[in-house]
Amino acid sequence: MNRRSFLVASAALAAVLGSSPGAEAELMKISASFSILGDMVKQVGGDRVEVFTFVGPNGDAHVYEPTPADAKELSESKMLFINGLGLEGWMTRLEKSSGFKGTVVTASKGITPREMVADDKTVTDPHAWQDLANGKIYVANIRDALIAADPGGKATYEANAQKFLDGIAAMDIKVKEAIAKLPPERRKIITTHDAFGYFGAAYGLEFIAPEGVSTESEASAKDVAKIIRQIKAEKVPAVFLENVTDSRLLDQIAKETGAKIGGTLFSDALSPLDGPAGTYLDMFRNNIETLSEALSS
Ligand SMILES: [Zn+2]
Repeated sequence: MNRRSFLVASAALAAVLGSSPGAEAELMKISASFSILGDMVKQVGGDRVEVFTFVGPNGDAHVYEPTPADAKELSESKMLFINGLGLEGWMTRLEKSSGFKGTVVTASKGITPREMVADDKTVTDPHAWQDLANGKIYVANIRDALIAADPGGKATYEANAQKFLDGIAAMDIKVKEAIAKLPPERRKIITTHDAFGYFGAAYGLEFIAPEGVSTESEASAKDVAKIIRQIKAEKVPAVFLENVTDSRLLDQIAKETGAKIGGTLFSDALSPLDGPAGTYLDMFRNNIETLSEALSS
């Protein structure tokens, strides 16, 4: 080997050796509006991305006061993932205050929105992630957006997304099997706010809630009285607490009707990672176990 080619070989070797720490420093920084979406982006992005989530575990994504730290994180992000469908009313202000110049990706793009009439107004139900078929659309949107922003990671994003989609398909079968075992007359459930419309429509359960599709407006005394009459008349077996809402209203409803408290469902947020619903799929696993246990007999 002459001296010149030795130098070239050394430079190539140095480049190879230096590539690991270099790659780590180049993680694509991403912001996601709330914990469920943050988990989905992490699953698909894998070790090529660093995800910051504004509304964390057990947090309420309908109502949120962004902090100066959120604005700083967003200003440093290349992409922002939101649910859309009117969930994150606080995001426009945060985007403006942060001076964010990156790409905004609406993860729910392409789903069929569920619309409801409340107080003579048509409102869009934002909780599309509670139907696993929609979850597949979220994952595909996340995969495509990541590839567009970082084409070098195409193979990684495609493989991660496929693994996630396989997990969703398996969970979908599990949920359907568990619900098929429930007696039809017991497939009626009360929760605090109307977060399970997509879940109910997909899997054949009826969810009734004193609060609407957002936690922003409180239930009126009239709404609560109506639900109490309905629980008694239709013999609704159980009411379920949610990890993102106050339990007092449902405690009161349970007391007045004799319906039992069936446990806590994860609606708009995951648990911390070491809790029972630390990921999107664990949220479904936990919810279906909780529902099965309370409603099977
Ligand atoms: Zn909600």
